[in-house]
Amino acid sequence: MGLGSKEKIKAFMVANVGRIVTSSEIQEASGNVSEWARRLRELRDEEGWLILSHNDRADLKPGQYLLEAMPKDLPDVSFSRSISGKLRASVLDRNGFTCQMCGVTPGDIDPKTNRKVRLHVGHVVDKSLGGKDELSNLRTLCSACNQGAKNITTEKPTSIWLLAQVRRAGQDEQRAVFNWLRNKFE
Ligand SMILES: [Zn+2]
Repeated sequence: MGLGSKEKIKAFMVANVGRIVTSSEIQEASGNVSEWARRLRELRDEEGWLILSHNDRADLKPGQYLLEAMPKDLPDVSFSRSISGKLRASVLDRNGFTCQMCGVTPGDIDPKTNRKVRLHVGHVVDKSLGGKDELSNLRTLCSACNQGAKNITTEKPTSIWLLAQVRRAGQDEQRAVFNWLRNKFE
């Protein structure tokens, strides 16, 4: 016995992160098992892999799939059980994997807590107050903001404020900002 079919699908999807793959490619990679689609759904709905289909993105055709982000980031994303994998992926994608209060992303070290940033997909209006599990009521927050540990408003910073911060930063920090912006807009 070699790898199980799910492990084979994982390896194939990781090798093709960011590239659209077809159902026949996945089936072949799984070792041509008949339950490949169920294994793929398990990865998405139970293990939280960001595998998108035509139901999630208009530019994907039926039978096309896309692993959007590297799964190594996934253990750092938590969510309430009731939010489906598909909805979670849409929220994270819409929010650019960025905390909507303080702007940190997975892989950053949070300057406030000195710990690796962990993202949550949570409700804007809590479910106990009638909030629904739908895109408009969900947002991405880091754990510190989620716990209200940071005293930051949800208002976006103005360009004047941002430029003032960048001007007084050190050269290394300015270069980091420059590289980030270049990557984003290239
Ligand atoms: Zn935050």
